[in-house]
Amino acid sequence: MQDCLFCRIIAGEIPSDKVYEDDRVYAFRDINPQAPVHVLIVPKKHMANVLECDGETAAALAEAIGKIAAQEGVAEPGFRVVSNCGRDGAQSVNHLHVHLLGGKALSERMA
Ligand code: 5GP
Ligand code: ZN
Repeated sequence: MQDCLFCRIIAGEIPSDKVYEDDRVYAFRDINPQAPVHVLIVPKKHMANVLECDGETAAALAEAIGKIAAQEGVAEPGFRVVSNCGRDGAQSVNHLHVHLLGGKALSERMA
């Protein structure tokens, strides 16, 4: 999608701090990190959010989450994954992405 920010990042048209890539998934550091580790994990195929996510993509994202958590050194003591969806979910970029947050003890509050 030409006017999609994350499609343009995946295509390399907009620079990003890449942390992981495979056939289906691209991951890069959030430009406005909310934790010492804040990585955005996105499918290479454009889809708006989790409502459009198919099983293969979900599996690829789950596998990438584990690899990136290990790579970033947060698998232990732990981390959080979040995917905002729609207006009330405070989704600001309409390309499915999972936030991986860690590197400190995160708030117990989710909302
Ligand atoms: P959302 O609010 O949609 O769940 O998350 C979008 C995230 O994308 C935000 O955390 C925001 O900081 C991040 N973001 C927005 N524009 C850019 C960008 O150009 N580069 C990077 N690396 N992150 C971005
Ligand atoms: Zn896109």
